[in-house]
Amino acid sequence: MVGALLNRVLVHATPAQAVALQPYVSAEHGGFVLTGAQGRFHPDCPVLVDPAAYERHVATPDAPFLLPTGGLLSIGLPEMLDDQLAAGATAAITPTKFIAAGDIGSLTAAARQVARLDRQDVLFLVPLDISLLGRAHFDEVTAILADAGHPVALVLGRRFGSLAQTADRVVPYIRNLRVLAAAIDLMPLRTDFTAFDLVAHGAFAGAPRSGGAVRHTGDSAPDVLVPGFMAWWRGSDLADLFGARQNLAPRCPCVVCDEQRLTRLIRAHHAEEAMCHAVATWSAYAGDLLGQPTMRARAEYWRRMCGNAIGYHSELTHHLRRVRPLVPRKSIQTWATLSPWT
Ligand SMILES: [Zn+2]
Repeated sequence: MVGALLNRVLVHATPAQAVALQPYVSAEHGGFVLTGAQGRFHPDCPVLVDPAAYERHVATPDAPFLLPTGGLLSIGLPEMLDDQLAAGATAAITPTKFIAAGDIGSLTAAARQVARLDRQDVLFLVPLDISLLGRAHFDEVTAILADAGHPVALVLGRRFGSLAQTADRVVPYIRNLRVLAAAIDLMPLRTDFTAFDLVAHGAFAGAPRSGGAVRHTGDSAPDVLVPGFMAWWRGSDLADLFGARQNLAPRCPCVVCDEQRLTRLIRAHHAEEAMCHAVATWSAYAGDLLGQPTMRARAEYWRRMCGNAIGYHSELTHHLRRVRPLVPRKSIQTWATLSPWT
């Protein structure tokens, strides 16, 4: 069943977002990871349900998984996983709690329970404090994940409650993440463009987040994926960047935008449109990436994309006659320059 996920980039979304996104998700190489019950949502592509226990709970060696307690019937890990499959999930995802910095004990405890399951239809969800992928722990963590004997769905965080969504937090760990993707069956979840970097270096699938969130800090503009930058910009910041020179603002070729300018996405009610634009855009990238004939060709394709993004930053700096140059994200620079095979 996990084989059904091979060579796919799924979108991590709430069930409500998934309904809006369905027209832009490919049956051939896409799918959904839902946070929340699947309900009546049954698209013609794989669907997983992420219990997202890591958002609210920290793992301990005694209780690495979030399982219902109390009541007359106690529900164990196997039953909980069966429930997901019975509800229509393509494979089940473990309800793993957040594994804090240095907590090898909880990781080991979780991995042992998963190894005992000995099933073909389960993804071992591993929500790690990203520092566990640093030099001090990397070899040990890799060995523990390999011993679990199940494909790993990796979520990266930085201290509890703060998922490492912004790609630059992964910069010091990019090399190790690539080594991990080549060493075990890996599917990064919610990790922004890191999912693409890892699918280009051996991960069997990935699931970036839909990016539909609106920040509630006065400015209600949604986050907009700017394809040329390969980065998310707040819609209002993007409009400010072009100021009086809106004629230089990029037109987007995706099916949602149909050559309209991205600077139109500046109000709270544009949030859904911005989300659909983002998913339509990166689904097309995913199709191109996954369509490469070899893993080496994927890595080269990805490196070229990142290189183009760097080029666009300097091109636009020039066109806008900016004194302060537009600087690409560190992650993009690292992906573009790090040799694919180190
Ligand atoms: Zn678009």
